[in-house]
Amino acid sequence: MKKHNFYAGPSIMPAFTIEKTAEAVLNLNGIGLSLMEISHRSKDFQAIIDEAVALFKELLKIPEGYSVLFLGGGASLQFAMAPYNLLEKKAAYLNTGEWATKAIKEAKNFGEVITVASSEEKIFNYIPRGYEIPADADYFHFTSNNTIYGTEILEDFDLKIPLVSDMSSDILSRPVDISKYALIYAGAQKNIGPSGVTVIIIRNDVIGKVSRKIPTMLNYKTHIDKGSMFNTPPVVPIFACLQTLKWLKDLGGLEAMEKMNIRKSSALYTEIDRNKLFRPTIPNPADRSRMNVCFVMYDEYKHMEPAFQEFATARGMIGIKGHRSVGGFRASLYNALPMESVDAIIGCMQEFEKQNA
Ligand SMILES: *Cc1c(COP(=O)(O)O)cnc(C)c1O
Repeated sequence: MKKHNFYAGPSIMPAFTIEKTAEAVLNLNGIGLSLMEISHRSKDFQAIIDEAVALFKELLKIPEGYSVLFLGGGASLQFAMAPYNLLEKKAAYLNTGEWATKAIKEAKNFGEVITVASSEEKIFNYIPRGYEIPADADYFHFTSNNTIYGTEILEDFDLKIPLVSDMSSDILSRPVDISKYALIYAGAQKNIGPSGVTVIIIRNDVIGKVSRKIPTMLNYKTHIDKGSMFNTPPVVPIFACLQTLKWLKDLGGLEAMEKMNIRKSSALYTEIDRNKLFRPTIPNPADRSRMNVCFVMYDEYKHMEPAFQEFATARGMIGIKGHRSVGGFRASLYNALPMESVDAIIGCMQEFEKQNA
């Protein structure tokens, strides 16, 4: 039976990425060595990381003056690394979920943190609007896609202070105006490649402005100066990321990807809105994530959630259980998930409705 992979992360990857990485693990470019056993200082690997940086810049149209880094530590390390490098006195944060909350907690180790708005009182089921960002904050931080709750901010804020974003779960899903940002970070395992590498896009002029001492490995400058090669970078995950970037470019880049992502998410939300058994957890359509579609069963059918889970699993749906803080279901529709899988889950919902409504 065909499996439809809706895992939230690590998550589905293009077959191209998996095949090319498997080949390279056995024999990289026919050189007779595995990707896992070559020096990161070899010309073979230098070419891989150089191409990955170049393709990232090309696909996201990253302007001059920015660096693209491939580092370890996950997005979670960036929760601390960003304020370590950028927070002198105070920073402003928007709290739209669990990851944002964690970022706020880490920033508090480095200075004053103003939470400009929070949707916590409604289990983060909407994106706050109409808040004020202090003009004297060192930067403003937001999470563009809230993986757990299924909300997304599609706007590139136009601010006078540096803009920082955790784009772990929607990077490369649509074009972004990079010139509006000072720093973007993203763990690879949602929409780029395997876990183990974090992509950082940083405007070179935002560093060097805090007075504290920064440990070498936690200083962005170290990695900018050494092209992510101060120490051994995650070689295999970087190779896999490069394959995904090639796959994306072949498909027509981020404009084409965005069209597909709109098509996939609209189809599923339309079905959730229509189906008598299910309702979306995010009421405002403008706040709904294209990447993580969250839904539950209406109260009168709530007891059937385990039955639907079993029904869908028996038909090949994998990873649709909602996060424990939301319950119900979450279908993650990352770039690599084909329309066919969206049609498959819609089919399950319709069939289950026929049998039970
Ligand atoms: C998954 C996720 C993280 C955590 O990433 P790690 O690489 O596991 O540290 C952070 N932010 C968002 C938005 C995520 O989806």
